[in-house]
Amino acid sequence: MLLGTQRVNEFGHLEIGGCDTTKLVEEFGTPLYVLDEEYIRENCRRYVDALRNYYKGESRVVYAGKAFLTLGMCRLVEQEGLWLDVSSGGELYTALKADFPPERILMHGNNKSPEELKLAIENEVGRIVVDNLHELELLNTIAQERGVRANILLRVTPGIDPHTHRFIATGQVDTKFGLNLKNGSAMEGIRKALSMNGVNLLGLHCHIGSQLLRISPILKAAEIMVEFLKEVKDQTGVELRELDLGGGLGIRYLSTHNPPSIEEFVQRLCAVMEKNLKRSGLSYPVLLLEPGRSIVGEAGTTLYKVGAIKEVTFSKNGKLFKRIYAMVDGGLSDNPRPQLYNAKYEAIVANKASQKGEVHYTIAGKHCETDVLIWDVLLPPLEPGDILAVLSTGAYNYSMASNYNRFPRPAAVLVRNGKAELLVKRETYEDLLRFDVIPSHLQK
Ligand SMILES: *Cc1c(COP(=O)(O)O)cnc(C)c1O
Repeated sequence: MLLGTQRVNEFGHLEIGGCDTTKLVEEFGTPLYVLDEEYIRENCRRYVDALRNYYKGESRVVYAGKAFLTLGMCRLVEQEGLWLDVSSGGELYTALKADFPPERILMHGNNKSPEELKLAIENEVGRIVVDNLHELELLNTIAQERGVRANILLRVTPGIDPHTHRFIATGQVDTKFGLNLKNGSAMEGIRKALSMNGVNLLGLHCHIGSQLLRISPILKAAEIMVEFLKEVKDQTGVELRELDLGGGLGIRYLSTHNPPSIEEFVQRLCAVMEKNLKRSGLSYPVLLLEPGRSIVGEAGTTLYKVGAIKEVTFSKNGKLFKRIYAMVDGGLSDNPRPQLYNAKYEAIVANKASQKGEVHYTIAGKHCETDVLIWDVLLPPLEPGDILAVLSTGAYNYSMASNYNRFPRPAAVLVRNGKAELLVKRETYEDLLRFDVIPSHLQK
């Protein structure tokens, strides 16, 4: 599987954005996150164009920053004309420091602190997506104290099981997110919001889950949301003008994964919208989509160096098995997803990319846990020093990275047309100590 601008060059090396990955490793070291700028831009454009082609109303593509957010990434999505979705004070701060236009920022979070709400209001972010009644009251008070009206969307849960890992399922009834649409709490929130002087309720939001390889749950959510907009209109007389259907489109982590293309997804979604809008007699609301993973996931590759290779034999049910562990110089701290979600990955030996797979390996990290990145992958025979490229690591890898075992976090480089530039510098050992303090009675 080769993704985006990946190709195998005349030296049999994996190339991304016109850069030989073995050269990237020489220059920037390992582990290294490599982000394919062309591919990120292409995915942004595909969303924008597909919505323009298939949706009859106005639309906005909102990049879900939590997938991968750095100052440079903010600039990139800004250039592509996208909006930006932030879900914490830290993400908002990053966007503001990147001079991202605040009116194109959407602020999420299921438990926003007063400080986060103040930061959002004082910087006049475009939309605050209110999650619950407590937040609604809090925001109303904070806004009124400042004599402003905050533009908000209300997050509702349509009560749909998205059929994904339970840690990234958010649209079902039993969830910490949003106000339930079926038990009356969403309608209560809407009535409340409409009666408040500190908020301006513009529309509704839902996000049912992530890494969806089948989009029927999102289509179902769209149907329910339109039905609900109609119910809101009937009960309150207000036709809400914006509908945000969240993110969630899955990507290819494995060659066997076959998510719909961005175009197919948007086309089918718009068809469902059109049908249901017509039926309910509503006009086209502004449609917002919040893709994260499907913008940046496949555009990221992690490069590691192979170190120790260990063969173990064991017997199970009277049969003898052999496993060959190939250890890389990263793991849990740069990619916690295998442990967190049982996520699966594919890999390419970057310096032997034209050789055939012959040996089954288990790719393990170097942390004090069984941090296996890939349980079984067929690769050309490995030697210490080989470079292993793990694919589709652009989303929820760097953003979830940690300093476990006091590993400095890797660098991230943006590659395009044979040029590579840093997005994030590699942390040093010194960086690890930056916030350590020795209590006075322990000082030497
Ligand atoms: C995580 C998240 C997204 C993005 O989800 P992807 O699966 O990465 O597309 C969008 N909206 C909200 C509210 C989210 O929490």
